Amino acid sequence: MLESVLGAINLGTIVLDHARRVVVWNRWMSQYSDLPAESVVGQDFFVLFPELGGKRIDGAVRQALRDNFPSVLSQTLHKAPFALFVNAAAREAGERMQQAVAVTPLDVPGLERHCLIQITDVSVAVHRERLLREQALELRSQTFSDGLTGIANRRHFDVAMEKEMRRAKRSGTPLSLLMIDIDFFKPYNDHYGHQQGDDTLIKVAHALAAMLQRPADLIARYGGEEFAVILPEMTAEHSQVLAEKMRERIAALAIPHAKTELTGYVTVSIGLATHALENSGDIAALLGEADRALYMAKGAGRNRVVRFSSP
Ligand code: GH3
Ligand code: MG
Ligand code: MG
Repeated sequence: MLESVLGAINLGTIVLDHARRVVVWNRWMSQYSDLPAESVVGQDFFVLFPELGGKRIDGAVRQALRDNFPSVLSQTLHKAPFALFVNAAAREAGERMQQAVAVTPLDVPGLERHCLIQITDVSVAVHRERLLREQALELRSQTFSDGLTGIANRRHFDVAMEKEMRRAKRSGTPLSLLMIDIDFFKPYNDHYGHQQGDDTLIKVAHALAAMLQRPADLIARYGGEEFAVILPEMTAEHSQVLAEKMRERIAALAIPHAKTELTGYVTVSIGLATHALENSGDIAALLGEADRALYMAKGAGRNRVVRFSSP
């Protein structure tokens, strides 16, 4: 009866005697290890499986036999201690079954203490866990990117701005901010339709994003057709050069715009402000200055860069 139960049970079952010799090796073990019971019973477990010597399982067996102390091996630390494979293909590929292992002392009347090793296949659970983790990461990245253009969204901008402002204050390095707004975009939408307006927004966003080269530079969609660019450790002079290149790049896309009062193509206006030690303010102040500079660029005729200077 016990033999049948051990054979039918969906769990790896090994019993070792006091000298760590294999006494029981059930059918599940034979199936997934490819070793029949006859080839292992009576032999020293750690001679059969030298790779387990000195490992966590070795200590657990020692503790069970000597100290009468049970252990559960952490699944995250010891994913696959035994060479067990769910099928021939996995064996071929060397992909071990993911295992949960428990080692329990076993008091046998009239004999020295034995120990029981139980192994469970947790591959499915581990797979599901990995899937959930990947989905969580994907969701997290979605909450930080803009659905239309794929660049950073306003929330991402806010988080990055906090971080960069703190860094700029701590290190005494400059921090520049560009506010970029498409010129006459409402008439563009009215003339070409919202769908084409969206396509143009995407083109402009990607062209601008492609011009940023340093890892900490960040472009975000700040509002409808407005973009904000964070440029850490960049002086006002350097960021003005970059802003000018960005303005030229958008004009060079030559996206036709029949309703602009300017060149006949889509253009942008850019306001620029820089946080430096001598004008040390906070995020709201820097945003206000860049906004004010943008407003001046619009007022001065659009399709231009204006750098904020205090009145
Ligand atoms: P200005 O040169 O002064 O910037 O004029 P403007 O017409 O561009 O004015 P404003 O910046 O206020 O334009 C906002 C317009 O942008 C309103 C709306 O038609 C358009 N817009 C905002 N968000 C979107 C969007 O997600 N998709 C599309 N297609 N259009 C948008
Ligand atoms: Mg606009
Ligand atoms: Mg606008």
